[in-house]
Amino acid sequence: MQTQVLSAKMYADGEWVSQPETFDVFDPQNNEVIAKVPKASAAYVASVVDRASEAFHSISSWPTHERISVIRGAAEYIESHHERFAYTIAREGSKTITEARGEVTRTIQTLRISAEEARRVKGETINFDQKEGSENRTGYYFRFPIGVIAAITPFNDPLNLVAHKVGPALAGGNAVVVKPASVTPLSALMMAEAFDQAGVPAGFLSVVTGSGRELGDALVTHPEVKMISFTGGSNAGDRIADKAGRKKLAMELGSNSPVIVMDDADLHDAVKSSVSGAFAAAGQNCLGVQRVFVQQGSYEQFLELFVERTKELQVGDKQSEWTDMGPLIEEKEAIRIEEWVQEAVDAGARILHGGKRDGAFYDPTVLADVPSSCRIYQEEIFGPVVLLESVETMQEAVTRANDVDYGLHAGVFTSNIDQAFYAVHHLHVGGVMVNDSSDYRIDEMPFGGTKQSGLGREGVASAVQEMTEPRVVCFKLTQPWSL
Ligand code: NAP
Repeated sequence: MQTQVLSAKMYADGEWVSQPETFDVFDPQNNEVIAKVPKASAAYVASVVDRASEAFHSISSWPTHERISVIRGAAEYIESHHERFAYTIAREGSKTITEARGEVTRTIQTLRISAEEARRVKGETINFDQKEGSENRTGYYFRFPIGVIAAITPFNDPLNLVAHKVGPALAGGNAVVVKPASVTPLSALMMAEAFDQAGVPAGFLSVVTGSGRELGDALVTHPEVKMISFTGGSNAGDRIADKAGRKKLAMELGSNSPVIVMDDADLHDAVKSSVSGAFAAAGQNCLGVQRVFVQQGSYEQFLELFVERTKELQVGDKQSEWTDMGPLIEEKEAIRIEEWVQEAVDAGARILHGGKRDGAFYDPTVLADVPSSCRIYQEEIFGPVVLLESVETMQEAVTRANDVDYGLHAGVFTSNIDQAFYAVHHLHVGGVMVNDSSDYRIDEMPFGGTKQSGLGREGVASAVQEMTEPRVVCFKLTQPWSL
């Protein structure tokens, strides 16, 4: 059967627009072209930012109740088209339909939390009289939107990570221009459809599609872009940071997250969580479990249970309800992973399970004895490969866990509270999950990393803080005044 190829439009300044050039979007499972999407030029992107800025400045203050109503309306629209959104995520990306449905449900939640946070954009009174000579002054600060925000998003959560930028940006009263990943632009365009239907004011949300390398600089260097909120890999992150100049930056980058399992842990629970954390979304998850450090006394049993559970995973058709793991986003990524695994094997690693590629599919793979000098140990795999290693003590596990340039999340399994606190205080990461794998997050909590894993925090409330700035007001009165 011939697949119908969608002719998509971009959303700019409240209009659905085409461009002279288009690019193809593929289903990574079979390389079928599923859509033709407008390819925005750098000049066009600059004009979109100009119009976003005009829209922002034309509304002197966008009332909070309208922001709430628009964000809630978008959430409701997505809820009432839940399956269509899930199908699109699973079609253009590499998630299974079950994972895609989970992402749509989370997206609705992210937007609803954003609508609530719009209510909490608050300030405080300031005790100016704490300074001698300021007894007759009083005032406060309140939070003010910062202007146009550029939101640059990756492929692996193509809807919810857009919501994590658009929701807080609009909650704070900003205008936002989204540049989604070129391999998965359709989910972001559907997000624009939801906001369009919900009545977002023209110019407050635009979604421009096209190559990050070609149009990225026009977005990042535009003087009217006041903040860049980027989620993606370190290379693009470095390039954006170099180009941005004096702009506010939020960077959500990658990791190679560790999990520590002590002898006193519930081993079955640790195995279940770690297998899920390693292979969800075919390992293409910034929180994915990559390196597991198991205390010596449990190591052999952990290995056996881990491989047993990994063997149960069904790899195959993304759109099937029975599939646990789909393909990588592109065949070239599966080839890269194959090379990294081979390099580790050549350096002495053992493959306990998997290690085979078929097109864009790579088996869930378990490795042991990987030398720490290997790329697969130091870098982010972003694929379905996990490394198991034995350690003697918590101190050793923490040292090994910290011995990389990344630090997003870590998981620690132990029933000993002292051990847990040792890990909490000594791991160099943005979040420690005790008795969970690194792959645990709720959309409201502060979320972000240390070292090469990022800059700033996302999570709706934190993002609203980052996307607004305090403005101080001070009244000088004729009489002394005290709070
Ligand atoms: P990527 O290749 O870095 O791309 C991310 C986005 O940046 C895409 O929209 C891309 O556009 C754009 N881009 C690339 N070069 C650019 C430039 N010079 N200027 C402006 N924009 C540019 O990342 P990905 O492969 O899509 O996503 C995987 C990475 O994201 C992993 O490292 C993962 O850990 C990270 N991630 C982090 C988090 C977190 O919250 N910490 C969450 C999810 C993913 P094109 O697609 O057109 O190239």
